[in-house]
Amino acid sequence: MMHRLVLLLLAASSLAQAEVTQRPNILFIFCDDLASQVISAYGEKRQLLKTPGMDRLAQEGIRFDRCLVTNSICGPMRAVIQTGKYSHLNGFYNNSNSTFDSSQQTFPKLLQKAGYTNAVIGKWHLMTDPVGYDYWHVLPGQGAYYNPPMIDNGKPVKHSGYVTDVITDLSLEWLKNRDKTKPFLLMMQHKAPHREWEPPIRHLGHDKDRVYPEPETLWDSYKGRSKAVSDHDMGLDRTFTEQDAKLVPPGNLTPDQLKYWNDYYEPRNAKFRESHLSGKDLVRWRYQRYMHDYTACVKAVDESVQRTLAYLDETGLAENTVVILSSDQGFYLGEHGWFDKRWIFEESLSTPFLVRWPGVAKAGSTDKRIVSLLDLAQTFLDLAGQPQPPDMQGRSLVPLFKGESPADWRKSFYYHYFEYPQPHRVRPHYGVITDRYKLIHYYKPDVDDWELLDREQNPLETHSYYLDPAYAETIRELKVELACLQAEVKDVIPPPRFAHGNKPFEGEMMPPEAKPKGKRKQTKKASEP
Ligand code: CA
Repeated sequence: MMHRLVLLLLAASSLAQAEVTQRPNILFIFCDDLASQVISAYGEKRQLLKTPGMDRLAQEGIRFDRCLVTNSICGPMRAVIQTGKYSHLNGFYNNSNSTFDSSQQTFPKLLQKAGYTNAVIGKWHLMTDPVGYDYWHVLPGQGAYYNPPMIDNGKPVKHSGYVTDVITDLSLEWLKNRDKTKPFLLMMQHKAPHREWEPPIRHLGHDKDRVYPEPETLWDSYKGRSKAVSDHDMGLDRTFTEQDAKLVPPGNLTPDQLKYWNDYYEPRNAKFRESHLSGKDLVRWRYQRYMHDYTACVKAVDESVQRTLAYLDETGLAENTVVILSSDQGFYLGEHGWFDKRWIFEESLSTPFLVRWPGVAKAGSTDKRIVSLLDLAQTFLDLAGQPQPPDMQGRSLVPLFKGESPADWRKSFYYHYFEYPQPHRVRPHYGVITDRYKLIHYYKPDVDDWELLDREQNPLETHSYYLDPAYAETIRELKVELACLQAEVKDVIPPPRFAHGNKPFEGEMMPPEAKPKGKRKQTKKASEP
């Protein structure tokens, strides 16, 4: 009898073991300020760069075309990913004065408890040390492109080489030496292609002085728009510094690297100085320089993706590893005359999202449904067969990865940006987003303006229809939807309290707006797991 019981227990434990080992590994390749316009798989007509590594993920998996962020800026979106909660609940509103409260619930802590071995390598940018990771090796703050100092599980270290390569080397090294009895979560978090877009020395001449096509909205006049839109400080016609333009060399280069850097830039910079450009000619020159540097940075990220996928192939890990590539937000590559992010407009609201899950996600497919980085925490937990905490605010994407079509998938999405006035004078705004429309409210400190965008009529988002009487009913419905979403995600305007001791912005609040009246037209979202 005793013997049979032992056998039964052994059988049960090996079954449990088999289930544990079948759980997929998760490799999250995360970039900083990567625009989908630069990824060739997204097919933008400028054809800025060929990205065979990222394209491979799209060919072997799913390309999501509308992955939205909740607050288009670096630190805050990282906090959203860790917690599965909007900024007003996780407490990390902006890059200027927020500190991540690492004592709160995060998905890596839950995965770790569920038997995963976790690592985060690269850019972290949450001000407090990573928690929930067996191994962390991160850049301090924004980090440096060349020969970057890093923090290895609390200990300062200095690396030689280019940051994207260093992060790749460290990631593959960790994969090699990880605890192989457990499934893994690897957050491979690149600094690139964040400002100031400093290229690897090997790619300085990569584009052979190509002239890049300009975006259609490079000369946007912002006519008929809120003052919030025209009174920005992130244009190629202003704000673009000597460091941005590579008119002065960056720090951290070795004398050898500096020589190569000067050999490339100096003759071109000398020509620029002699030409005394101004007005539109100066903007055109800056756009070309920006595209050269930005694409060179992305080229190195793409090489990292190729190398990493090859490593998964060689080690037999590819089959049971879900690979997701994304960015903390999208980015302007000259659209509306801008670089940077922040706005609810499509280039910075929508972020690249590619998923490969061999045998599950349909190779070469595309998905236009509204998904979000807010969904990642629950998606990762779901992939690991773990319950999704009811206070997380996204929704698992696993059914979408499997090709399912949940009837109650979201039809609208809520956005709220805070950081103001530094560094780019983008005024706080919130809004509701649907497949077709965006209703936006710029609410502080010196504006109280609404805009309505109709992406079907005006996909470039250069016109507001808010004052057009033909849209009165649409606006009324969207205001109701906005109020419902604000209630669902528990956001209050203006913020009545400062979660986790952080402040959303400098200075103080506008009076609360009047609540819109009326009934919501769309079916209320079913309660999400
Ligand atoms: Ca970013």
